[in-house]
Amino acid sequence: MANPWGKLPLRMQCPHCGTIDEHPVIRTDPAIYSGPEYASAFFRHTVGRDIRFRLRRKRCTRCRRRFKSVEVAYIYLDELIQSIDFWTHESSELGSRSGTEVSVARTGR
Ligand SMILES: [Zn+2]
Repeated sequence: MANPWGKLPLRMQCPHCGTIDEHPVIRTDPAIYSGPEYASAFFRHTVGRDIRFRLRRKRCTRCRRRFKSVEVAYIYLDELIQSIDFWTHESSELGSRSGTEVSVARTGR
């Protein structure tokens, strides 16, 4: 269905069954959330500002299970992905240098 604003409906993947569709929102939480202090400190250091995000609850059009979705400025997700990339490489280098398993290096145990 066309809409007068020209915006495309948001399609996303259900985390339960993998179906990509326009899963309807069943609840939009009016609150604006931030992370726990360690996450706030991380984002203040990397992005320069604490993270803020919104939550919605959706219902899958196929399996009917509910799931939460988040609306957050992309810069925060990008920073997380870059950090995962950095620490994955860092861990594998530590593992290959010391002979320690990567999973051990990642968890710090
Ligand atoms: Zn589903």
